[in-house]
Amino acid sequence: MGSAPAAHPAVHPGRIEVITGPMFSGKSEELIRRLKRAQIAKRRVVCFKPDLDIRYNRNAIASHSAQTLDALAVANFEELKMVLLPMLDTVEVVGIDEAQFFDPSLVPLANHLVHKGLRVILAGLDTTFVGEPFAPIPELMAIADEVTKLSAVCMQCGAPAVHTQRLGSNQSLVLVGAAGIYEARCRACFLPWAEKQTAEQLELPVSAGTRS
Ligand code: ADP
Ligand code: MG
Ligand code: ZN
Repeated sequence: MGSAPAAHPAVHPGRIEVITGPMFSGKSEELIRRLKRAQIAKRRVVCFKPDLDIRYNRNAIASHSAQTLDALAVANFEELKMVLLPMLDTVEVVGIDEAQFFDPSLVPLANHLVHKGLRVILAGLDTTFVGEPFAPIPELMAIADEVTKLSAVCMQCGAPAVHTQRLGSNQSLVLVGAAGIYEARCRACFLPWAEKQTAEQLELPVSAGTRS
């Protein structure tokens, strides 16, 4: 056995931060802001994003307001781990954008990183386009030191928006895009199944086929 633990152990340097909210709420902007400040503080920063999100630039994360920061695009969780783990002795801050596109193993990975003393900042959608929790973000929120929940502006009425409205009838969970495919909506304006709701509002019969 080693020596007795110090009476006042040093503050643990590791930290998990989650930035969440609907599309257009400024998650990527806030992630970029925090990572740029860490770079100004001369911390060694690395940022990842899933490579299915190549809307603006493959080698950077980007906000809808055109802020950018260099990032490594990885195909999936396995590739993220493969690229990140060998860097652990040289990196101090890890950013991950669009974290909802990685699998639930992101939770134990975030725990591993924080126990190594890293600052881990994860940005991602808290809910899907039908308004349900979008794993693994809820789990990451639960283990985080700090959660920042942002709202967007409802594109229908201007109120604070907590939802991501899918426009059109495509119902697959992952459909990457931005303006034109999605818009931010408040609770009152959010129609999780837009086509069904429209049919109901028109008092048309709603069959199972209406959603396809
Ligand atoms: P997120 O990563 O959460 O999708 P971004 O950080 O990429 O959001 O973009 C946020 C920016 O998007 C805002 O600063 C604003 O310029 C722009 N924007 C476009 N539509 C909206 C909206 N409905 N509500 C708020 N911001 C919007
Ligand atoms: Mg974003
Ligand atoms: Zn609204």
